[in-house]
Amino acid sequence: MGQRIDGRAVSKALLAEVAASVAKHQARGVKPTLAVVLVGDDPASAVYVRNKGKRAAEAGIATVDHRLGADTTTGELLALIRSLNDDASVDGILVQLPLPPQVDADAVLLAIDPAKDVDGFHPENLGRLMIGDPRFVACTPLGCMKLLESAGTELSGARALVIGRSTIVGKPMAQLLLAANATVTTAHSRTQDLAEEVGRADVVIAAVGRPKMIPGAWIKPGATIIDVGINRGEDGKLCGDVDFDGALERAGAITPVPGGVGPMTIACLMHNVSLAASRR
Ligand code: NDP
Repeated sequence: MGQRIDGRAVSKALLAEVAASVAKHQARGVKPTLAVVLVGDDPASAVYVRNKGKRAAEAGIATVDHRLGADTTTGELLALIRSLNDDASVDGILVQLPLPPQVDADAVLLAIDPAKDVDGFHPENLGRLMIGDPRFVACTPLGCMKLLESAGTELSGARALVIGRSTIVGKPMAQLLLAANATVTTAHSRTQDLAEEVGRADVVIAAVGRPKMIPGAWIKPGATIIDVGINRGEDGKLCGDVDFDGALERAGAITPVPGGVGPMTIACLMHNVSLAASRR
């Protein structure tokens, strides 16, 4: 029976560390501030933004909300980003994704000052990660690394499998594992034999978005499993990409969904805001 990695507890400890660093910024007269841009009225995005606001408040970080209508143009959004880039009181800028279809999301992410890009999605920050000089690391992969650390997983020389190659999760995740000296494989929708790949991995990061697509029987005994997927199962309940109950039997350690990677993503965002404020 594997260890259940408690993302809520690890994120709470990280938020306490962030709160302590925020207090130090405040003591020198800097008030760490996150600008949150929400375009349109997607209900899931509104929930994410509300949760981020709550965690920020707990860490002592101020948030300034900018809510724009669903018919906002790329030009209007770019104008807002430029004003936030120029505003010295703003440390971090978060544009909640997804953006409405008429908005050029790539142009918007590119317009964010890389020094305020606390989501770590700007090509400059992604490139810095790739050359081994990271500044802001994308929050979900960073949270996964902190969970691996909390579980005591040895990464040097380990075979690590990242399933999924998105720019916000899979690709930066693979880079972080490579930097930690793992032997990294990235799987995706064209991978021929996913079961075989999973079966030889000491560490699996699942970031696909398909409910319970990885059965416990595929997992190498003793492997560490980090499940990034957030899905609604047939029973209507939230579940990950991995069949948690089956995997728990074989894995050395595994994260649950919910209560695994999700809370870490938000805590790492706050960590990045405090890091941004340290540059002021
Ligand atoms: P994307 O849809 O951008 O990427 C999914 C990836 O999965 C793609 O690279 C795709 O391959 C790959 N894929 C699809 N089908 C298969 C398959 N059968 N076998 C192997 N790989 C496959 O998703 P995201 O990276 O944005 O998110 C992934 C999941 O993580 C989602 O469930 C999302 O909700 C969740 N998530 C959770 C977060 C958290 O805080 N916990 C934060 C961000 C995301 P290809 O490139 O070939 O199409």
